[in-house]
Amino acid sequence: MRYLILSDIHSNLTALETALKAAEGRWQNAVCLGDLVGYGPDPNEVIDRIRSLGALTIRGNHDKAVSGAVEADEFNPIARNALLWTREQLRPENREYLETLPRGPVSVDGFSILHGSVYDEDEYVFSPALALDGLLNAPSPVSFFGHTHLQGGFSLRNGDVTVLYFKPTGGNPFSIFRVEPGTTYLLNPGSIGQPRDGDPRLGFAIADLENQSVEFWRIPYDIEAVQNRMTKAGLPEPLILRLSFGS
Ligand code: ZN
Repeated sequence: MRYLILSDIHSNLTALETALKAAEGRWQNAVCLGDLVGYGPDPNEVIDRIRSLGALTIRGNHDKAVSGAVEADEFNPIARNALLWTREQLRPENREYLETLPRGPVSVDGFSILHGSVYDEDEYVFSPALALDGLLNAPSPVSFFGHTHLQGGFSLRNGDVTVLYFKPTGGNPFSIFRVEPGTTYLLNPGSIGQPRDGDPRLGFAIADLENQSVEFWRIPYDIEAVQNRMTKAGLPEPLILRLSFGS
């Protein structure tokens, strides 16, 4: 079974549609690692689209905050501004949908999905030291996580943690990573709606674990169209500008 792995869409419908078009016909089931909303201009449209895919979805910290499960005060002023705007926009049934999203880790088909870390959906797994605990106690040999918006991940083999980077080269839209037996992986597909690794192209993954393969994709999309909608919506300028830099 081939799984489309999406994360951190952040109300960016243009990026989501571009990813879906690129991945068309290459997957059978979709999963989403949370943060459907927050930052971007299309919260309802993104939720509608994810629901139409029948994607198995867990909640992210922004989904939780928008649905009112935590106080907006916990976010920085810029993120909070976008969050309050998103709350106003959401149709009641979409707000309800966000409220009912399960928290990770959730096991799928021989792998697991989570938003932040294995223990805490709000924790950022940036470094090998932070990844080690999760790798030692991972619910399955392969887990996919999001939240950092950094495509890549960590592996654990014979007590050694390795940092993994995936960059498609030579004009390819994706690179193929081989999953080895006897190794534990925490893999991040990257962010659809707001990449933060200095590369503004959207990121996602397609996993085919029966064949030990995971494709890590990077695709350009029409960033300006999203920025124009953000300007019209009156969303904070730093959020608009950062899309151009992938920062
Ligand atoms: Zn996020």
